Amino acid sequence: MAIKLDGKALAEKMRAQIREETESLARRPTLAVILVGENPASQVYVRNKEKDCVECGILSQSYRLPAQTSEAQLLELIDVLNENDRVDGILVQLPLPEHISQEKVLHAIRPDKDVDAFHPFNVGKIVTGEQGFLPCTPAGVMALLREYEIDIAGKDCVVVGRSNIVGKPMALLLLRENGTVTICHSKTAHLSEVTARADILVSAVGKTGFITGDMVKEGAVVVDVAMNRDAEGKLCGDCVFDEVEKKASYITPVPGGVGPMTRLVLMQNTLAAANAHLQG
Ligand code: NAP
Repeated sequence: MAIKLDGKALAEKMRAQIREETESLARRPTLAVILVGENPASQVYVRNKEKDCVECGILSQSYRLPAQTSEAQLLELIDVLNENDRVDGILVQLPLPEHISQEKVLHAIRPDKDVDAFHPFNVGKIVTGEQGFLPCTPAGVMALLREYEIDIAGKDCVVVGRSNIVGKPMALLLLRENGTVTICHSKTAHLSEVTARADILVSAVGKTGFITGDMVKEGAVVVDVAMNRDAEGKLCGDCVFDEVEKKASYITPVPGGVGPMTRLVLMQNTLAAANAHLQG
């Protein structure tokens, strides 16, 4: 039976460390969070971010804007926050309403305040391996693997999913640690043969029951990034958990695996931004 990669416990530890550091700074770090519209899931995410900030000793400034906010108005607010020396991080909660270009908005955030690491400048640094913000979910996965001393070098790593937010940066971070990385997506042929070769399998598809036991190698490390709802509305990942945990050596539970890590990396990034700003 697989050992559970306990993201909740590690997040707890990180929270205490971040809090200790924020309390020692000349001023509290500040995270500005912008939510446009009333998407219920986004509202929950923003509330969680506010809670995380309080618990980490970070000041949060939330901007809840109506769904009909224009792109120009949103860009104007980002400009103001870019110029405000007291604001260390700016996060625009996605998805945005359809009339607003996500690309334009993400490109407008100043890279030194881009704590989500979605700006092409920061994405470029992930590709070249330079120091910079790391995207929250993949960096959270890496922290979890590190905590459990899971070796990546030379391992066959398979990432299912190639989104800009999860799959692609996840693959790059595994490559950075010398994994031999394969990225799969909806056009991948013979997917289950590819996943069954993985020493480390990361699933970021978003489909309940997608990864079954027969797709997993005996002893593999399985990281389930997905946050889906099952037929009863309960939070679950991509894996058929009962099947996969019997074959894996380590597995992330959903909830309590990658989710809490994602949240804490955002706090870490905000702290890093504040440190950089304080050092001028
Ligand atoms: P996304 O943008 O919808 O990407 C899903 C990926 O899965 C795409 O690359 C897609 O391939 C691939 N895919 C879909 N069907 C497939 C199939 N039949 N075979 C192989 N690949 C397939 O989603 P995302 O934003 O990356 O998020 C993925 C999941 O992670 C979601 O459940 C989301 O809620 C969750 N998530 C969790 C966290 C966290 O903190 N735990 C953070 C972010 C996201 P194509 O590119 O070919 O379409």
